[in-house]
Amino acid sequence: MPKANPDLSQRMTTPWASFILAVGGGVLLGLDIEPVLRVAGALAAAAGAVLLGARFRSGRSTLSQILAVIPVADKGDALLRKLPKAWAALEEENLLLRTQAEAEDQTRRQILTNLNSGVLLLDQERNLRLFNPSAQALLGSSSGLAIGAPVVVAFREPDSLRAIDAACAGRPQEWTLKRNPRTLLVRAIPFEAPLQASSHPWVLVTVDDITRQEALETTRQKFIANASHELKTPVTGIRIAVENLQEGALVLPEGDSSLRIIARAVERMTLLLDDITELSRIETGALRLEPVTLRLDAFAADALENTRPQAEAARVGVHLDLPAELAGLAFRADPHRLAQLLDNLLSNAIKFSPAGASVQFRVRRDGPWLVWAVQDEGPGISETDAQRIFERFYRAPSVRRIPGTGLGLAIVKHLALLMRGELDLRTVPGQGSTFTFRLPAAETTE
Ligand code: ADP
Repeated sequence: MPKANPDLSQRMTTPWASFILAVGGGVLLGLDIEPVLRVAGALAAAAGAVLLGARFRSGRSTLSQILAVIPVADKGDALLRKLPKAWAALEEENLLLRTQAEAEDQTRRQILTNLNSGVLLLDQERNLRLFNPSAQALLGSSSGLAIGAPVVVAFREPDSLRAIDAACAGRPQEWTLKRNPRTLLVRAIPFEAPLQASSHPWVLVTVDDITRQEALETTRQKFIANASHELKTPVTGIRIAVENLQEGALVLPEGDSSLRIIARAVERMTLLLDDITELSRIETGALRLEPVTLRLDAFAADALENTRPQAEAARVGVHLDLPAELAGLAFRADPHRLAQLLDNLLSNAIKFSPAGASVQFRVRRDGPWLVWAVQDEGPGISETDAQRIFERFYRAPSVRRIPGTGLGLAIVKHLALLMRGELDLRTVPGQGSTFTFRLPAAETTE
């Protein structure tokens, strides 16, 4: 990179460092920049006068100005001889400065282009002086940003315009803005107008997409609220039972044994904590799949066998439906995680079925997919509930009396994602539900 000569940099910072050019003819004051200087110099040269010029710094630029042309014919020759050298130095300076300014401009443009944050610059008239591609993308393509356009092309909402007015009056502002589907955080920072062009400040506006942070924050708050709500019931049960025991009674007035109440409450809390821990492991990415090669018939039979005690207690029949031609099939999957997913679906099917009903556990092959379906004859799920049952803690109001944490299907959803599979639900209220999990089993062999 070329180094500025010390003489030059000194002149750059000195307001009136100057040099004198030769020649003659009249007095020119206050005209700036070099083309004028060049023409004036040539004209003056013909007449043998002294031309007084200056370079000085104004803001970030340097200017050349003719201060005066003084007729001094006798000195004209000597000064004229110095003219080419002086002019060459001036040109060199100009070139260096221009190169530096262009490099700075280029860097600034690249930073603005690559920033994820939107950046806009408003002048004292609230017109756009600058904006970057992210500003255009975040504020929406309909906003039609253009240099010189008024601020309303970027911000039409009354709240935003009020905040920008306040920033123009010198008070920094920060607010959120909904631009579907995004939530944006906007900051407006007033700063002194460049070159003191106005006594009113200009305003730098930054725009950031906080949709994800906002969703995470809402989820976090909901999670804490739900988890504490879910823990309250068993804790209350334990407290009442303990108070009862302290008073010497082993049986509550309702006739239930205090110890049994405590045991049930502890079991409920344990289930809840297990599910919370599991969900957080999956969601934070701490859980890694460990696929191995499995035999379909043995795996499916095991999955069903694990639910046998629950099914017997609920007097619900469970049946495996596996076509004979698939029996010897080998496929790759993480056995623990696939079993966990299927176990959640099977135990829900049993739990929500009336005594005497049956649950079908079907396995099919569909091209590269292994399709696992769990069909029950339970109460079915209403359309409204069906849209929410995969959310954490969501439980249909109609099943509140049946124990559960509301986390099982959230775990199923995350496990399915992790296995790159697809979930599907067909349900008819009053008739039953079928949950289907399609597992990509491309490496399946027979
Ligand atoms: P839990 O079973 O602990 O309540 P889940 O997350 O497993 O939680 O299920 C969420 C909700 O979805 C259940 O509370 C219930 O309302 C509904 N649901 C799940 N499976 C079935 C099913 N097979 N039949 C009817 N409703 C179901």
